[in-house]
Amino acid sequence: MGNAKKSKEQVTNLILMKMKKTIILQLIMSIMLTGFSNAQQYNIVIKGGHVIDPKNNIDEVMDVAVKEGTIALIAKNIDEKEGAQVVHASGLYVTPGLIDIHVHVFNGTYPDQQYMNGPNAVPPDGFTFRVGVTTVVDAGCAGWRTFPEFRKQTIDISQTRVLAFLNIVGEGMRGGPFEQNQKDMDPKLTSDFAIKNSRYIVGIKLAHYSGRDWTPVKLAEEAGRLADIPIMVDLGGASPALALDTLFTLIFRPGDIFTHCYAQLGASRESLVDTEAGKVKQYAWDARKKGVIFDVGYGGISFAYSQAIPAVKNGFYPDAISTDLHIGSMNGAMKDMLTTMSKFIALGMDLKSVINASTWKPARIIKREELGNLSVGTEADIAILNLRKGKFGLFDYTGYKIEADKKLECEMTIRAGKIVYDLNGIANPVYLPSKKGTR
Ligand SMILES: [Zn+2]
Repeated sequence: MGNAKKSKEQVTNLILMKMKKTIILQLIMSIMLTGFSNAQQYNIVIKGGHVIDPKNNIDEVMDVAVKEGTIALIAKNIDEKEGAQVVHASGLYVTPGLIDIHVHVFNGTYPDQQYMNGPNAVPPDGFTFRVGVTTVVDAGCAGWRTFPEFRKQTIDISQTRVLAFLNIVGEGMRGGPFEQNQKDMDPKLTSDFAIKNSRYIVGIKLAHYSGRDWTPVKLAEEAGRLADIPIMVDLGGASPALALDTLFTLIFRPGDIFTHCYAQLGASRESLVDTEAGKVKQYAWDARKKGVIFDVGYGGISFAYSQAIPAVKNGFYPDAISTDLHIGSMNGAMKDMLTTMSKFIALGMDLKSVINASTWKPARIIKREELGNLSVGTEADIAILNLRKGKFGLFDYTGYKIEADKKLECEMTIRAGKIVYDLNGIANPVYLPSKKGTR
C-alpha cells in the first residue's frame, strides 16, 4: 500500500514538473512573439514561397515579412533571422487571404428561421481559416430589422472578417412568406441602414423571390442606388423563368452582381450557356461588357458542369469564385472554397486568374480595395496554399465527375498578422495564439 502511494506521489510530482516546464516555455514564447524582445525586426518572415498578388502584378518566388499586423516588406531575400516566426514556404503559393463573397453565416438556434438566426447558416470560423479564407461576405441572411442581432452574435465575435449584403427584405432570409413579402422591402429604410453600417455592409441582396414580376429587383436596385453600393441577385424560382436579358439590360447597373452564374435549374431559371450550341449566350457577353459581375455562388445545386465547362472553354471566366456556404452545400459537391477553386483549375482556368477571382477581383467588386492584396502597409491577411498533385475526383451535384490531377490545399492562414491555421506546423516556432476566453 505504502509503496503504491509513494509511486503515485512521484508520478504526480513528475507531471507537475513537466507542466511547469511547459508553462515556462509558453511564457518565453509568448514574450518573444508579443515583441518584448526586440531581437527581431518582424513578427513573421515567409521564406521562398511563390507569391501571387494580382493587384501588384507579382507572380514569382519572393519573401514576405509581417510586422504588427501588416505587410511590412515583400522582397527577393529577407533574412530569416529577422523573423520571430519563420515559415519555410518553398514549393507553396503565397496569396492574399481569400475572399468568399457569397456565404451564409447568421447561424442561430431558431429552428424555423432558416438562414436568419437559424440552423441553415453556419458559424464562419469553423469553415474559413482551414481553407485560406480570411474575409467572407454574408449574402443577405439579415435585413435591416435583424442585422443588429447578426452583428452581435456573429460579426463582432468572429475572427474571420465578416461583411454583408443586406437583404432588401427587412426580416432577411427567414424563409417562406417572409421572403415573398413586398411590404417588408423598403428601399429607403434599407439604404439608410446600409449607409449607417457601411463598415460592414457592402451591398444589397435579393434572393428566393418566386413571383413573376420585377418589383423586388427594382426595390433592391433603388436601395443600392441610394446607398451607392452594388446589389447581388439570386433570381429565385419563377416559372416560367424571368428573362435574364431584361435583368442585365434594363435593371442592373454596372457593378451589380448576378450570382449562381453557372446554374442549370430547368424551367425556373434561364442559364447563361446555350448547352445545345455549347456557347455562352450573346446577352451574357453584352452584360459583361456593360460591367455586370458574374459570381459563382456554388451552393447545393447552383453549379453544373453542363454550364461551367462550355463557359470556361469559351473564356467566360467568373468574376468572383464563391461558395454559397450553408448546411446544404458544406458537405455536398461544393465542400469549400479551395475545392471550388480547384474545379476551375481543372476546367482550364489558369492559377493566377483563379487566385485573382478569389482575392483582388472580389475586393474590388465589394469596393474594399484595402483587401485582397499584399501591398506594404495593408492588414496582413495571407493564405499559403499547396497545389497538390495526385488523383482527385471533382464532381457536381448532378453526379458528373472530373478526374483531376491537382487540387489546392491550405497549409497556413494568417489573419491580421497572426497565424490562425497551420496544417502541418510549418511555422518555426510552431505557435498559434488562442482566442480570448478559450484555452
Ligand atoms: Zn446564397
